[in-house]
Amino acid sequence: MALTQRLEAIYQDVIKRNPGEAEFHQAVKEVLDSLGPVFVKYPDYAEAKIIERICEPERQLIFRVPWQDDRGEVQINRGFRVQFNSALGPYKGGLRFHPSVYLGIIKFLGFEQIFKNSLTGLPIGGAKGGSDFDPKGKSDGEVMRFCQSFMTELWRIIGEYTDVPAGDIGVGGREIGFMFGQYKRLTNKFESGVITGKGLVYGGSQVRTEATGYGCVYFVEEMLRHRKNGLKGKKVVVSGSGNVAIYTTEKVHQLGGKVIALSDSNGVIHDERGLNLDRIKILKEVERRRIKDYCEYHRSARFIPNGNIWDIPCDVAFPSATENEVTGKDARKLVKNGCIAIGEGANMPTTPEGVKVFIDAGIAYGPGKAANAGGVATSGLEMQQNASREAWGFAETDAKLHAIMRNVHQICSEAAEEFGSPGNLVNGANIAGFLKVARAMSAQGVV
Ligand code: NDP
Repeated sequence: MALTQRLEAIYQDVIKRNPGEAEFHQAVKEVLDSLGPVFVKYPDYAEAKIIERICEPERQLIFRVPWQDDRGEVQINRGFRVQFNSALGPYKGGLRFHPSVYLGIIKFLGFEQIFKNSLTGLPIGGAKGGSDFDPKGKSDGEVMRFCQSFMTELWRIIGEYTDVPAGDIGVGGREIGFMFGQYKRLTNKFESGVITGKGLVYGGSQVRTEATGYGCVYFVEEMLRHRKNGLKGKKVVVSGSGNVAIYTTEKVHQLGGKVIALSDSNGVIHDERGLNLDRIKILKEVERRRIKDYCEYHRSARFIPNGNIWDIPCDVAFPSATENEVTGKDARKLVKNGCIAIGEGANMPTTPEGVKVFIDAGIAYGPGKAANAGGVATSGLEMQQNASREAWGFAETDAKLHAIMRNVHQICSEAAEEFGSPGNLVNGANIAGFLKVARAMSAQGVV
């Protein structure tokens, strides 16, 4: 069978075996579209059906999560953990709590995680999990009871050497703390390395909170440096206003750029003079309020209800909210307005049509798999510290993160060049991520 036909057949089989999981299909297609030249060079991988095996998760768990709300009413959510690939190390990937969560979202995220984790150079496999639980508007007590119930099922299949969850949308330090506490209680073990994103006082790592945002900015800075440019003086928009968006903003400001817009699912805040990050942090991290409340404190800012953040002209954009938030139309608008670089803090935030627009325009485009790898990389550093009972300082950990992001950029660039699409970091990330996993899988036999 000709190569393109073979890859198309694999894709059709994935659709057939995983009906109704559009996001998972999209993530698989993007990787398959990059792998043609790899199979020409390494026909053995096709022979050994490596890609077919990578597309099938090693294990998937779906479970009931019952809990009681503050009125004593019983609520039922659904929990997921997809252990996708353990060729490089224990399964590793975050937990997402959001009403949109279903198996297709968890599988797309878990699939992406395999390649992302491979790119970090650390010994970690790929996984993802979560629930359709919505933490928004819930009391601390409700969130705690939910997290405890979630862990009461999850603990059976995780462990320091087995599977190490972390945070994602809707799961931050508070939720990780509640889940770690319940795991400890159920197992009677203080097993620090079982989960990452922990608080600093009980085994967390410096820089983990900042890592995804900082790492994404380091990646963009690296892309720009190769184009003899930098973030200094650049006008920047960042979608979302959660963990990734906040620390992207912080690093952009430190490097001399100016973030002029942020968003949430209700709308956009915009201030050409630049946003005040201290206020954002108080609103979002301490008071858990909405982004529109920012305008109560800063008269020069305006709130655009249900606005589209990509309409705002900028030099650099960081999609940092959710999947498929940048459409083809948005991408064309960004390019037309003079945007020169995109750093994807979120996972798969750009539709396939949008990705094509960025690639065709030749702007610096850092796909999520590579650009947001700093979060999981620093989780890997947290695991290292837990294993050696050490706690590194902020500057030391940040320097390691910075070095990892430079290296991710370099290996993606080199793979893109070697396999015939110089400058195309989508192909570069997919190929470099894939090759390491494929080598490990080949060495480990048919498992
Ligand atoms: P948070 O929960 O901290 O923040 C998410 C932000 O995105 C919020 O402002 C939220 O707005 C907005 N958002 C979420 N879903 C939607 C939606 N469907 N439509 C519009 N806005 C939405 O999550 P993170 O910052 O941790 O994650 C953001 C992205 O980064 C995700 O794609 C995640 O997978 C990715 N990522 C995160 C990593 C991490 O370390 N945390 C690591 C690598 C990637 P609202 O409050 O209105 O819902």
